[in-house]
Amino acid sequence: MSRRVKFQYSIIKQTFAQLTYDSYLTHCHWMEHAIALAQTAGNTGEVPVGAVIVDSQNNLIAESCNSKKKLHDATAHAEMLAIRAASKVKHSHYLKNCTLYVTLEPCPMCAGAIIQARLGLLVYGADEPKTGSIRTVQNLPDSYCSNHRLKVLAGIKSESCRQQLQTWFKEKRN
Ligand SMILES: [Zn+2]
Repeated sequence: MSRRVKFQYSIIKQTFAQLTYDSYLTHCHWMEHAIALAQTAGNTGEVPVGAVIVDSQNNLIAESCNSKKKLHDATAHAEMLAIRAASKVKHSHYLKNCTLYVTLEPCPMCAGAIIQARLGLLVYGADEPKTGSIRTVQNLPDSYCSNHRLKVLAGIKSESCRQQLQTWFKEKRN
């Protein structure tokens, strides 16, 4: 294993004690998949955010990217589309043993949907300083309005996720 990856693992493990090295690599794998999905959104003029949902057997059951402009839908965030698609696959409005990967910390709407869907684990990349509703601006899952204790793993491939967004906004300005 490379020293860099091992170092990043040791940093993340400080916030998520039960994280094994193998599961860390799995989380990185799916986050890279979400980053690739985000890029397809960015290439079509959408803010690049990608999301993936896997089931308890680590099978991919939904993948999506931010599609607000394409669908003319303010609710078409990557997480919302992924939750809808995964719920269809599972024939259930609950996604209890599933893991949602998303490149950016969820907004209040998506954090609410994640709670409603009872997701087993949320893994996200970059913190969102303006609307982040998992820990940065507010912590919706741990607040009094939440009836689901959500497990959260933040910061997986955070540098890649952050850079992808920064590059996109920079290119948009130029
Ligand atoms: Zn959202």
